[in-house]
Amino acid sequence: MSDKDTKNPFEEIQKQLQELLKSNNPNVSVNPFVPPQQTPPTSSTPEEPKESDEVLKQIQSFKRKPKEIRDYLDRFVIRQDEAKKVLSVAICDHYNHVRQCIEEPSLSKKEYNKQNILLLGPTGVGKTYLMRNIAKLIGVPFVKADATKFSETGYVGNDVEDLVRDLYKLSGQNAELAQYGIIYIDEIDKIAGSSAMGGKDVSGRGVQINLLKLMEDADVNLVNPQDMMSQMQAMMSMGQGGKKQKRTLSTKNILFIVSGAFDKLAENVRKRLDQGQIGFSSQRNGEEEEDDSHFLKLTETRDFMDYGFEPEFIGRLPVRVACEALSKEDLSQILKNSEGSILDQYHRDFKGYDIDFSITDEAILEIADRASKEKTGARGLMTVLEKTFREFKFELSSTLIQNFEVTDKTVENPQEALKDILLNNQAALNDFLFKRVAEFIADFKEKHGLDLEFSEDACTKIVELAVNEDRSTSSICEQLFKDYEHGLKIVSRNSGKTHFLITADAVDNPDGELSKWVVESIKGKGATAEEKPESEPEEEKA
Ligand code: ADP
Repeated sequence: MSDKDTKNPFEEIQKQLQELLKSNNPNVSVNPFVPPQQTPPTSSTPEEPKESDEVLKQIQSFKRKPKEIRDYLDRFVIRQDEAKKVLSVAICDHYNHVRQCIEEPSLSKKEYNKQNILLLGPTGVGKTYLMRNIAKLIGVPFVKADATKFSETGYVGNDVEDLVRDLYKLSGQNAELAQYGIIYIDEIDKIAGSSAMGGKDVSGRGVQINLLKLMEDADVNLVNPQDMMSQMQAMMSMGQGGKKQKRTLSTKNILFIVSGAFDKLAENVRKRLDQGQIGFSSQRNGEEEEDDSHFLKLTETRDFMDYGFEPEFIGRLPVRVACEALSKEDLSQILKNSEGSILDQYHRDFKGYDIDFSITDEAILEIADRASKEKTGARGLMTVLEKTFREFKFELSSTLIQNFEVTDKTVENPQEALKDILLNNQAALNDFLFKRVAEFIADFKEKHGLDLEFSEDACTKIVELAVNEDRSTSSICEQLFKDYEHGLKIVSRNSGKTHFLITADAVDNPDGELSKWVVESIKGKGATAEEKPESEPEEEKA
């Protein structure tokens, strides 16, 4: 047998593949795939729980009670009391069922309706946040995607099965852990089949059918059949004598959450109620104006069908709950009382510059008021806070100011408030700028072994330039004295001096002053630069 005959054909393919990857061909899209045997089940990805075996044991022996989950959610999520209750029970039922099936495997053969969940409600009210927190508490992997990304075939757009593969990747390719994960699909209302509802028509129905199979119990190929590269890599790993890998993942224990704003659905329910109950509207007259979430709570299966959902699809989502719109008061509660709120994040951001801030109640109310006008739920808070703090972060990080107060005036006119803070802290601002000049001097000494001394006038001029040109003092010094390293080394060589006084004249005309010193040193007449006093020992000479 020749060498050629014994050569492993997979090695050849692997070599070619490596070449292909190296060539960085922009036409080839590579889906990174690590052959399972190269990544032990406990290997970590950024979001993977560290002790995955421990987590697995915890899930398999799930013993939490709904109230415990609700109490945990209360720490982070403001309002949504009904959603919290319904979700807590659904989650406990689901993971209790998982545990029971492990304890008594015959149970898994019995008919069981999974508690897949349909979350309705406007954007930014905490639908995802609730589920993320639940997943974090239980320790299961969590993936989220928008339904609009999927296409029926997966040839254009993503394939719904990619979600299961994402769970697998997120679990560090630990199929055991991935099978207990949570898949969250947002914007489900956009794939309603009826075009009258603005849905995606036929393709939407196709995606619903695909999702339906997935929500039920499907075995998903862990290597995307349409991703040629992953297929080849999987083949290669087997060709290299790798262990026979688990190739599919069952979706039986994966919990599916679908969500959407369903704003047109609320309108339909309102009409249905108005028709069915003569005078329903008039009965409500005088009551507070109800928002969409009120009607979303009253939806029935037929409303979803009229909306353009397949009855089988909606039938796989037995747990339905509507989240409420957040009022101005709720938004201020989020800022004040919710653990890990966006305000905490701003505190951490400023801490990064050693700055602390306090915020008045009036400021919180003003932020909440503006945020509620954005009509994007709690996301409006981020928009308002970003507008409020943007300039503060930029400016205050370059001062010695260590704390400031945010009042309602700050929120109303951040620029003006910032100007006041800077004016009232002129001394701290100047100190900071002078400190930066001193840092430039120290840096120059360290790099070039030459002592610079700036006269008070020179310092003041530099600080003025920094303020007027809105630049940092270090960049001004670097620009003004960019030729000083070279020039002063010549002066030092000619005259033996290593200490130079930079006066206001040098700031006004740095090149002129430097040339004068160089010429004078060449003539051997001594520079205008002052000698270093005898008493001070000279450090490193240039
Ligand atoms: P959606 O309802 O569109 O899924 P999210 O849950 O993604 O909205 O909310 C966006 C962000 O707003 C969250 O990450 C969270 O910081 C904040 N948030 C939203 N609703 C609440 C709430 N009820 N309580 C506390 N924070 C909230």
